[in-house]
Amino acid sequence: MIIGKSRKELEKMRAAGRLIGLVREELRGMVVPGITTLELDRAAEKMIRDGGALPTFKGYHGFPYSICASVNEQIVHGFPSNYKLKDGDIFSMDLGATLAGFVGDTATTIPVGQVSEDLLQMIRVADECLERAIEQCRAGRHLGDIGWAVQEHAERHGYSIVRDYVGHGIGRKMHEDPQIPNYGTPGKGAKIKNGYVFAVEPMINLGTHQTKALADGWTVVTLDGKPSVHCEHTIAVTEEGPEVLTRVTQEVRQEQLQAAGV
Ligand code: MG
Repeated sequence: MIIGKSRKELEKMRAAGRLIGLVREELRGMVVPGITTLELDRAAEKMIRDGGALPTFKGYHGFPYSICASVNEQIVHGFPSNYKLKDGDIFSMDLGATLAGFVGDTATTIPVGQVSEDLLQMIRVADECLERAIEQCRAGRHLGDIGWAVQEHAERHGYSIVRDYVGHGIGRKMHEDPQIPNYGTPGKGAKIKNGYVFAVEPMINLGTHQTKALADGWTVVTLDGKPSVHCEHTIAVTEEGPEVLTRVTQEVRQEQLQAAGV
């Protein structure tokens, strides 16, 4: 069952989304050659806790860290480690915060230092896929419209769509109904209503769409070892249209600086 959110609940989800969006942007600024993904994990956990929230991922089905840190051919669910990010890597991080009982979930792929034009293009296309999917998060559209928006754009640019992992409804729990695949048929699937909140997360690969899990039981990589890109926003369906709860606008940034007394 898809659980629509009340106005009050949406207000709490806005706060959770805003916090984790800000943490994502702070971390983005820290991604330079030489930093370890464990250092980024620690920084994320501190910022989330300082914001009065809990790192949603930590302990989720036993996941031991606050962020998922996936490098190059790693698609999702990578463990932060002592691996030092290096020039030319692409670094995907996925992170969540639970604030006042509600979850915000977001992901992004960040180029480390100087990255090849091919990989930069792939990141751009994934971001465009997400924006196109967001446009479909409107009352009266169908879940298949979201999936199709991602699939059509990615495949047109020659990338494959990961099928084994999907987006999801979100609220008091990180993973709620419905599942939101990054592929679909326009006009098919459940009808979208106001009050629904979705985590939409395109995962696109340079080569095959096929995946495998590593021996740690978590890290998911591409079967052919070619790179993968991931991005995600938490989006509320409102009467005014899609509201991206994890987007950090100039306005949000300004408020944050004021609150910090800068
Ligand atoms: Mg998610």
